[in-house]
Amino acid sequence: MQSTSSSSPSDSAFAFAGAECDRLGKVGSLRPDGGGKNKYRNFAYFLLSRLRAAIFKRQLPEHPARGCSCRSVPNTTTQIHRYADGSHGYYHLLRCASAMVCPTCGPAIRAQRAKEVIYAVRRLIEEGHTYILLTLTTSHTVADDLRELASLFQAACRAIKAGRRWQDLARTWAIRHSIRIIEVTDDIPDADPAECTGWHYHCHIIIFLERPPLTAKEGRAIEADLSNMWLRALDRVGLSASRAHGCRVDIPRTRNGVISKRENLKN
Ligand SMILES: [Zn+2]
Repeated sequence: MQSTSSSSPSDSAFAFAGAECDRLGKVGSLRPDGGGKNKYRNFAYFLLSRLRAAIFKRQLPEHPARGCSCRSVPNTTTQIHRYADGSHGYYHLLRCASAMVCPTCGPAIRAQRAKEVIYAVRRLIEEGHTYILLTLTTSHTVADDLRELASLFQAACRAIKAGRRWQDLARTWAIRHSIRIIEVTDDIPDADPAECTGWHYHCHIIIFLERPPLTAKEGRAIEADLSNMWLRALDRVGLSASRAHGCRVDIPRTRNGVISKRENLKN
């Protein structure tokens, strides 16, 4: 596998957090499924402590998560505040604000970003934009190193938008804006090893067009163009994907002006 970019400290810490979460889930009962809010929070802080220790021992590159939730904001004193419902919170506690790496900052940041995405989508639709949903994936196995996979995948994402083909595509289909979301899933802890496929690092992109909604035929045309560009970008960084699964475009369908479902053009 050839690499076109080195992995960043965030990629490394993110990979570590994912691997630790996976390992802990296999050996214990700390996994945050069905354990309630407190159990999930305790699990998140436990995971953060492991992450901080790994950075401190230089098993991982330096990352702001090293000081997350264990130091005061400079020139302040950390205070504990008890709320009426008996819960408590901290004031002036230093947070790393890393959405992809930190198990305690990440959920709060992602919840806020979800609100911002909903607001942006509503505003753009009100202004007359239409949109399509693009999903980009790559082939993966249990032998993949998440750190390397993330780095190469991001390089392919940059490559697809850097070329002249993307500019031509944007002009042809009146592409004006996009919102990209990275998603990573893994095999369930107790899965049959023969059925495990490793880290599934992929992205979902909402692409806004300044034109009427695409027809199914137009959707298939833009999907074919995007698929060619994506497979070429993957090949350039040493990754690959099948034409059937590497790139998928969904078009939202509306009934009486309300989005009723999204149409998968491959079905
Ligand atoms: Zn943090």
